[in-house]
Amino acid sequence: MLNRVAARLERFEFSQIRMGVDTPIIVYAPSESQAIEACRAAYSRISQLEQQMSDYRLDSELNAVCKEAVGRWRRVSRELFYVLWRAHRLAQQTDGAFDPTVGVLVRLWREARRTERLPDPQTLQEARARAGYRLMELCPRRRAVRLRAEGMQLDLGGIAKGYACDHALRVLRRYGLTRALIQMGGDIVAGDPPPDAPAWRIALAEGGETTLVRGALSTSGSTEQFVEIGGVRYAHIIDPRTGLGLTKLILARVRARDGITADSLATAAAVLGAAGIPRLQRLYKGVQIEVREG
Ligand code: AMP
Ligand code: MG
Repeated sequence: MLNRVAARLERFEFSQIRMGVDTPIIVYAPSESQAIEACRAAYSRISQLEQQMSDYRLDSELNAVCKEAVGRWRRVSRELFYVLWRAHRLAQQTDGAFDPTVGVLVRLWREARRTERLPDPQTLQEARARAGYRLMELCPRRRAVRLRAEGMQLDLGGIAKGYACDHALRVLRRYGLTRALIQMGGDIVAGDPPPDAPAWRIALAEGGETTLVRGALSTSGSTEQFVEIGGVRYAHIIDPRTGLGLTKLILARVRARDGITADSLATAAAVLGAAGIPRLQRLYKGVQIEVREG
């Protein structure tokens, strides 16, 4: 009986840009109109989160916090608080290898990519003084944030996509579509599998494929976005110890129950390298972490 119902589902695929990356959604639905309605709602939920968490959007809630939370408590939305809290906790757990306050350094990296020149030492030093997770305080009781230095830039680029995928999947589920997969760049979250398969098949960037069902898979690393200066490749993930992009070749992949965990741990693992795996694994039970260096 169940199988007969499932067999009537059709596959639909949509693609839009969200948070600066391709965001395909694949769903199985009884009709095109149901697929469209549900996916429209899912994309609009992602847009709403983008408006809260993007550092690119000048009028985002995150950027308002950067301006208004210096030296005083600024109350924030429930979603933004949760993501900041998860990011801050991971920063503490990794001694700042993952750090949501690296925004000023990320901006210097973007400039370096445009000009193909590294920031001068003075600029780098000033920027480093405005980064560091210890400069960000969170108060759960007030659901508020306080920043301890002028000119700080928060950056949730390493965690918000996974979180947005989690929420998009929830929206689809609310519309009754549980057989769905959402991808935002290197972050994928999957619900129930396609009707005719035990799991979703995922092609891997380095070749080959893997499967995923009711869980998340995130890939981070230095192979996709980088700038080459003086024969050295600097990746878009900042090594908070140097303030510059990672220079090692690394690919980190994390499987977890939800997107926020997979996304953030993949970025953390890219900074920490293979040596950081046991520590992350002790802290986050049930996640699978794989790191390739070299
Ligand atoms: P991902 O592709 O998920 O690994 O995230 C990379 C993005 O995270 C970058 O584009 C930055 O926005 C942000 N980011 C860069 N370095 C770090 C870091 N050390 N910790 C946390 N976020 C970072
Ligand atoms: Mg990430």
